Amino acid sequence: MPFSTSRCGSALRPCSVKRKNTALPVLKKGQVFGMVSASVRESKTSPPKHFTEDSLLAAIETAGAEDMPEDSERKGLGTPATRAATLEKLVSAGFVQRKKKQLLPTEKGVNLIAVLPEKVKSPILTAEWESMLKQVERGELSADSFMDGIMEMCRELVREHSVPEERFAALFPDAHGKREAVGTCPRCGASVYEGKKGFFCDNRDCSFALWKDNKFFSSKKKTITKSVAAALLKEGRVSMSGLYSEKTGSTYDAVVLLDDTGGKYVNFKLEFPAAKGRRK
Ligand SMILES: [Zn+2]
Repeated sequence: MPFSTSRCGSALRPCSVKRKNTALPVLKKGQVFGMVSASVRESKTSPPKHFTEDSLLAAIETAGAEDMPEDSERKGLGTPATRAATLEKLVSAGFVQRKKKQLLPTEKGVNLIAVLPEKVKSPILTAEWESMLKQVERGELSADSFMDGIMEMCRELVREHSVPEERFAALFPDAHGKREAVGTCPRCGASVYEGKKGFFCDNRDCSFALWKDNKFFSSKKKTITKSVAAALLKEGRVSMSGLYSEKTGSTYDAVVLLDDTGGKYVNFKLEFPAAKGRRK
């Protein structure tokens, strides 16, 4: 007679969780069962399927819905009008990529989810807001205090998470505090860091910047590399070879001097090696 045992308690004791059609035969201590066969089957569990546009939209629609207030105008996350746009934003920002019909997380997306504070990730937050909006509607809560709460939460999040936690440092080598300073600012002494477009002083009140795209260097067919920037910051000068002359069409060697007058843009000067005898 077939019978099933369940995972709770000892194997042959009736389980308190009742399942349908699983009556256990009467059992006695010391009883021996014949004709019992067992086999081990090796198989692998398959990972959950990747989302498609449709399945993800459906998941967003129902996420956290059970936590929403009963009389909530909408359940799930967002509205039908915003959900599709939110997906597009994730794709255009590089957090998700499309592969045929599938939506796959990018490395950037996986990293973001790893560091994102739990509070922001949870659909409960939306549920809480929906619930508070209901209170506002019923006059139990003022709209201002609702907004104040959100602003305070934002301030707190920025304060606590401006730098990724230590354990996530490897995911964000460029993150503030983990970046390597290129040098110190000649104006204020703060650290200078490399950015996409140049080398910038870390002090927000200081406007010192060495722009990668600048006329002085581009006219000589050169760019400010990290090592050039480092030398300029450290010594105020850097020897460069192969500088292009727009006048003659040939190249020459010279020392580039940082000639900072504190204006919006930093100026540069050329100094020629004494050996050439042109200038001392
Ligand atoms: Zn500075």
